[in-house]
Amino acid sequence: MIDNKKTWEGNRQFNDFGSYFKKRFTERIQKVAIDAGFTCPNRDGTVSIGGCTYCNNNSFNPAYCNPKKTISTQIDEGIDFFYAKYKAQKYLAYFQAYSNTYGEFDKIKALYDEALSHPKVVGLVVATRPDCMYQIVLDYLEKLAKKHYVAIEYGVESANNKALEAVNRGHSYELAEETILRTANKGINIGVHLINGLPYETKDSMLESAIKISKLPIDSIKFHQLQVLKNTAMETEYKNHPERFSLFHMEDYLNLMVDIIEQMNPNIMIERFINQAPLDWVIGPKWGIKNYEFVNKLDNILKARNSWQGKYFKG
Ligand code: SF4
Repeated sequence: MIDNKKTWEGNRQFNDFGSYFKKRFTERIQKVAIDAGFTCPNRDGTVSIGGCTYCNNNSFNPAYCNPKKTISTQIDEGIDFFYAKYKAQKYLAYFQAYSNTYGEFDKIKALYDEALSHPKVVGLVVATRPDCMYQIVLDYLEKLAKKHYVAIEYGVESANNKALEAVNRGHSYELAEETILRTANKGINIGVHLINGLPYETKDSMLESAIKISKLPIDSIKFHQLQVLKNTAMETEYKNHPERFSLFHMEDYLNLMVDIIEQMNPNIMIERFINQAPLDWVIGPKWGIKNYEFVNKLDNILKARNSWQGKYFKG
């Protein structure tokens, strides 16, 4: 059996995105979320009207985020919001809500430029769908990346097309892969978002997705467990067809994550393991655990097993 050695520095048993960030920037950095008023082709009728069945952008939008406010105001209010808690010195403007590369190029450019003109902003993080990365926007982000930190977060969610169809994702895994290959080697950090526990997924299919995606030219992955949220199409589906869902118990999810970590590419940094929608929004599962608590549990299991990210990775 393959038994690879640990390849990254740091105390964690996995390649921790946070440690990279501390090395990459000399100052303390915090992401400040922005709702720039983008929409999404999976909601406005271009791809579909209903959106992904699990989608509820309100569940993660901080109170200060409001598209009626300018980008600069949202950044200022976000900085006030975080300052007391984290004492960050510089910020990354996080275009988070909906699809932040979708729309007229001139408007998109003006929004990115306004964010980067803020004296405390040192870079951009842009969340989007893989079918929304138009070449003109990608070229502009490449240009910005020559002077600033620029990251794109692609919602890939799964490599299993049956699961993507079941949640009305509106694009295939193959398209996501193509877009990632088109984004690579441009000086842009590429992050991928994956959801574990979509309908039609099995333990093997989730493991396979994570391993496959970790072999793409990406920098980091955010994992989430599926949470059924209020005011979503999934809420209705879950009530009418609970048999289509097997929501994770935390212990089972921990075990799945251990297996994924052991078999995925050790070069890919892991940024998150769980979703933490406010409990008022959540139908289930409700674990009531913070990301750092989950990370400590996971790290302790890996240590107890004398294991680490990529120990059994087959490149
Ligand atoms: S792509 Fe994102 S914003 Fe659009 S419907 Fe799906 S989850 Fe919501």
